[in-house]
Amino acid sequence: MGVQLFKAKYEVEECLSEIRECLEVGWTGMGFKTVEFEEAWRQYTGLPYAHYLNSSTMGLYMAVDILKNEYGWQDGDEVITTPITFISTNHAIAKSNLKAVFADVDETFCLNPESVKEHITEKTRAVMYVGLGGNVGNYDEIVKICKENNLAFILDAAHMAGTRYKGKIPGREADVVIYSFQAVKNLPTADSGMICFKDGKLDEIVRKKAWLGINKDTYARTQNMGNYKWKYDVEYVGEKGHGNSVMASIGLVQLKYLDRDNAYRRTLCQWYRERLSAYPDKIKLVKIENGCESACHLFQILVEDRDSLIVALNQAGISPGVHYIANTDYKMYSYAKGTCQFADYVSKHTISLPLNLYMTFEDVEVICDEIVKFIVNK
Ligand SMILES: *Cc1c(COP(=O)(O)O)cnc(C)c1O
Repeated sequence: MGVQLFKAKYEVEECLSEIRECLEVGWTGMGFKTVEFEEAWRQYTGLPYAHYLNSSTMGLYMAVDILKNEYGWQDGDEVITTPITFISTNHAIAKSNLKAVFADVDETFCLNPESVKEHITEKTRAVMYVGLGGNVGNYDEIVKICKENNLAFILDAAHMAGTRYKGKIPGREADVVIYSFQAVKNLPTADSGMICFKDGKLDEIVRKKAWLGINKDTYARTQNMGNYKWKYDVEYVGEKGHGNSVMASIGLVQLKYLDRDNAYRRTLCQWYRERLSAYPDKIKLVKIENGCESACHLFQILVEDRDSLIVALNQAGISPGVHYIANTDYKMYSYAKGTCQFADYVSKHTISLPLNLYMTFEDVEVICDEIVKFIVNK
């Protein structure tokens, strides 16, 4: 079948027995395993709060919506963001009637702190930061800029499950961190995500807003017993956004193996780097900051003729990908087309090489052979 870009590897028997438990007790919904998974995630990350959702897209939408309402942002206020991301990141800003203001990326493929500074205006309220490929980029500098300018810091950590920076899981510095456990991410469940607010009051709000605004505690609390579960108040027009126990079952199992799996991803990336760094004129590697132990969600390189390389690799049975086309090239965000020079360069020249846990050293060798053959013949 050749070598695929992504292919999730599950602890099948363990996942099935965890799911079996849900089926046997007759509860697959919110609660039960979702609560266990939230607790396990808090333990793992050291973040104070975690609410389990049905996707990270939902998490991004809720994050921006809740910060806007609670911090008193107005329609048309600005959030500085990156063009090199999956579209959910920027839709979350637009969905809340805020303006996505695109700053450029640097050789880490994450936001360039200088460009972020240049885009700050009277109306800037937040920075939306994506740790692309699991890398932290210039994280500390972005945190500093947010503090100095009194901006909220939203961390789209969709690629960062398991990333460490200076020995710790990054995120305590952020107002909110959003993880994805979608089918191809480092901690795959099929579909789900986690939203981690710094402030417990906002965590309480997201628990209501992700369940249609229902405050299920109102009567249970005032009556001081569980008999009034059917009586609740509705405080918001919320979403149906919470996660379920079947997905959480998979998440609980996969979390146990996340560090082991990420370590193997780093090994694969190291093999790629060792081989491909021999061609610095033809192949540019993403810069990894000192102190970043990346989750290695992606292995990206830059080459001159990216599109032809993809065709050549496809012909050899290898399926690479592209992360990402600059979002400013899309109609929705074309008001900023051409404003981010390096992002546009990345958009045209980046290729994500296969990176999955089924791969061996030989697979990496075969892929590198094809790439070298391609660039030498050019
Ligand atoms: C996958 C991804 C998302 C969306 O995650 P879902 O869980 O599929 O909603 C958001 N941002 C980035 C950077 C992603 O890669």
